[in-house]
Amino acid sequence: MTDIIQLLPDHVANQIAAGEVVQRPASVVKELLENAIDAGATNIQLLIKDAGKTLIQVADNGKGMSITDARLSFERHATSKIKLAEDLFQLQTKGFRGEALASIAAIAQVDLKTKPQEEEVGTHIQIKGSEVESQEACVTPIGTVIHVKNLFYNIPARRNFLKSTAVETRHIIDEFQRVALAHSSIAFSMHHNGNEMFQLPISNLRQRIVNIFGSKTNEKLVPVEEETELVNITGFVGKPEFAKRSRGEQFFFVNNRYIKSPYLNHAVTAAFEGLLKDKSYPSYFLFLEVDPKSIDINIHPTKTEIKFDDEHALYAILRSSIKHSLGQFSVAPVLDFNR
Ligand code: ADP
Ligand code: MG
Repeated sequence: MTDIIQLLPDHVANQIAAGEVVQRPASVVKELLENAIDAGATNIQLLIKDAGKTLIQVADNGKGMSITDARLSFERHATSKIKLAEDLFQLQTKGFRGEALASIAAIAQVDLKTKPQEEEVGTHIQIKGSEVESQEACVTPIGTVIHVKNLFYNIPARRNFLKSTAVETRHIIDEFQRVALAHSSIAFSMHHNGNEMFQLPISNLRQRIVNIFGSKTNEKLVPVEEETELVNITGFVGKPEFAKRSRGEQFFFVNNRYIKSPYLNHAVTAAFEGLLKDKSYPSYFLFLEVDPKSIDINIHPTKTEIKFDDEHALYAILRSSIKHSLGQFSVAPVLDFNR
């Protein structure tokens, strides 16, 4: 029998991987913001047009890339962030899969300018559908500016599948806010179609929350702090009387990475037991720091789901520390006269 198995060409493999990493413009925003953070930037500017469908641009003042690295950064499994499988268990960076830029470049037109501090000139690289179209020297400030144009231009089905401008913009704002909350010591801005959406100076967590969600937020924040062998918890919960009708302002960060966890959400809700009206949701901005060895964040390509070794203990600690904070701030239960 003749052999029929072949290795997929790179651009095909990249396009397949892109299907997992890039669901929508907001996924690109997340990856690019995280790369800027990993590059040590202190100022990150996001600019989008048409909810990111025509343009997503991220400019950072991070460490930039050499000419060769700029080229290699678009190869799949090309990363400066891990070297060994063991490194997966002590991640200090947001990225590690080395897939984002390769995936994005497979399904969009990408234009990147970058310059490290020690170089006189920078490098400008243009890629479309995984093909490098040009790379030449350019004048550009220290750091990296990346343009991602016409996302899914070569996958019409995906492009047509995108939701309305309002919905896609909402997803982008969500990602932006998560990243900005986790990094209050970095300045961020966001513009959409030329309009300023956010201008966030370097600050602390409380100030960052207020800058994002408005000055009225300040009085409703109750600090949460707990140190145990398993986990350190910091952050804020909203006073019960300010609980919302929707789940908008609920954020968990584990080792400074935004995660979704219905289980931990339940622990928070349990701490609020008896204090909330029916169908209202408390705000929370909670940062859990755990031993990187005790979690696995590599179970999903977008890295928003993680596995904890000791979920039950975490639940109990979280619940009791929030209860304690709420008690300390002598939060009275909401009297519901309808019952
Ligand atoms: P990962 O972040 O998982 O390593 P990416 O595809 O997102 O994979 O990026 C590949 C590599 O390109 C990174 O490891 C990093 O070395 C480099 N890189 C990407 N974005 C930037 C940036 N904004 N500044 C400096 N280097 C970057
Ligand atoms: Mg990355």
